Amino acid sequence: MPTSPGVSRKYPQCYPAPRKYGLVIGCVDCRLLDDLVRFLDHDNLTNRYYQATFAGCAIGVCSKPPKPGARNKSSKPPGFAKWRGTLVDHLKLVLKLTKGELTDVYIIEHTDCGAYRLFLDRDYYADPSNPDTAGERADHAHYARVLAEDLAGWFESDDAKELEAEIQETNKAFKLVPPLVRGFLMDLRGGVDLMFGTNPDETGECHQ
Ligand SMILES: [Zn+2]
Repeated sequence: MPTSPGVSRKYPQCYPAPRKYGLVIGCVDCRLLDDLVRFLDHDNLTNRYYQATFAGCAIGVCSKPPKPGARNKSSKPPGFAKWRGTLVDHLKLVLKLTKGELTDVYIIEHTDCGAYRLFLDRDYYADPSNPDTAGERADHAHYARVLAEDLAGWFESDDAKELEAEIQETNKAFKLVPPLVRGFLMDLRGGVDLMFGTNPDETGECHQ
């Protein structure tokens, strides 16, 4: 029995540590809120990150949400475009508030996500004793990667250039530098795997 609840968690260690401010994009799931904070504390991000949460995390805000036909007919299609716009609005705000010192973005997906089940109409846990963990991980990695590419694309956009020009009005030396984006998958025990990092080798299991 661990003396501290955090002792038993498995965390990846094979990527560069976050340098300045972080932006954490996660899910609204109520089971993992404390585990999320614990992981971010472990990465020395205590009181150093901004947080945006959306049902399903990446799948709700990436540019390629599931096609309407892929959704569960009984669920009301969510406002993906609105959610995506909200994320971009908050990203811009964070860039202004941190004066360009947003160095790291963490996309933190999680297993047994109800939003994925509803949006994709796919139950990875149809057989609870033998869940389709490979399929689940592949879907989370796919949408998180799409979101990471979207974020990289935004930093090349006219919107980003406008923001840079606006900040340069009061700080001529300001330069908008894209943050490092990483994709994680948290399990229901609060353990974390790195799905992808900024280095192509940073994939898969990399616990110490
Ligand atoms: Zn979720």
